[in-house]
Amino acid sequence: MTKKVYPFLNLADATALLRDEIVSAITRVVYSGRYVGGKECIDFEAEMCRLTGTKHCIGVSNGLDALRLIFRAYCELGRLEPGDEVIVPANTYIASVLAVSEMGLKPVFVDADPVTLNIDWTKVEAAVTPKTRALMTVHLYGRTSWNAEIAKKLRNRGILIVEDNAQAIGALSAEGISTGALGDAAAFSFYPTKNIGALGDAGCVTTDSSELAAMVRALANYGSDVRYHNIVKGYNCRLDPIQAAVLNVKLRQLEAENRRRREIAGIYNKNITNPALTLPLWQNNESVWHQYVVRTSNRQSFTDFLDKNGIGWDIHYATPPYRQPCYREFSHLHLPVTEELCRTVVSLPISPSTSADDAVEISSIINTYTP
Ligand SMILES: *Cc1c(COP(=O)(O)O)cnc(C)c1O
Repeated sequence: MTKKVYPFLNLADATALLRDEIVSAITRVVYSGRYVGGKECIDFEAEMCRLTGTKHCIGVSNGLDALRLIFRAYCELGRLEPGDEVIVPANTYIASVLAVSEMGLKPVFVDADPVTLNIDWTKVEAAVTPKTRALMTVHLYGRTSWNAEIAKKLRNRGILIVEDNAQAIGALSAEGISTGALGDAAAFSFYPTKNIGALGDAGCVTTDSSELAAMVRALANYGSDVRYHNIVKGYNCRLDPIQAAVLNVKLRQLEAENRRRREIAGIYNKNITNPALTLPLWQNNESVWHQYVVRTSNRQSFTDFLDKNGIGWDIHYATPPYRQPCYREFSHLHLPVTEELCRTVVSLPISPSTSADDAVEISSIINTYTP
């Protein structure tokens, strides 16, 4: 008998669950003759507004472009200018930071909270200077990163709040507000591995501001507000209608998908009892479990053990953005919680192709691990 394997993520399996609907959605676009913009894109944007409770959604090419467009739009609108400081979490994927530095804005890194692994909100106010004009909150691993009280104080000082919601579509704040509707603007990614993934690159921006929405939409379309009239020097960052059609199918599964992820996370949290591992904080509505991240001091020995037992794993992330070669100017920084996370985190399988039975079996195997 061959030993069972538990893949970290199998995208072909995930797509197979919805194959017929996806194929007919793509076929609709093929027959429509409309290959940029059109009905699928309009429907997608309307659905994202409904899901998040925001007034505006602009479908764009990917998550990084969504973030870049937000910062560029605030620059065009005079709300931000090069040299302004933007507070960002130290523990995040590098794309969050790239969008800030590209516009000549200065990222100011704040260390992670050792319990939520998101930005430590208790350290945010100390990082504010007279040059602080924005804060980027990243809902990392699917967990809402929000502190209503501190957010309100920042806003009273005229500081914008941008959400990087690449990983937490469908998550709520403690007050029951959807991620994507918490800040002044939010960026979503539909990269294939996200909770809702396209069959390629896709993203969107949500906001309640009609001024920001109009600027983002123009910037994403050569800077054009009406055809052949260009108000700004823009880009081409539009959402592809084939991807919009796929997303319109996938978005119908959002609740079921996030419910399943919660179930898997709940099984791990209940069944993994190995004292060598620190499990993630259990939260119900405040996480959609994009990743299930455990921590262990002897990571190499743990991942060797997982390999030996056919359990897929990944590391999110081994190097913080400020330690990447491209950000040499920040290499002197020392943010102890983030660096500890980078040494100890391991992500376990949690995907549309991970079953509840798999999670129970993985838990029992992991309980036999000794460092
Ligand atoms: C995936 C991701 C992005 C970038 O999205 P793309 O669609 O891959 O460009 C940005 N921020 C975070 C936190 C992400 O996980």
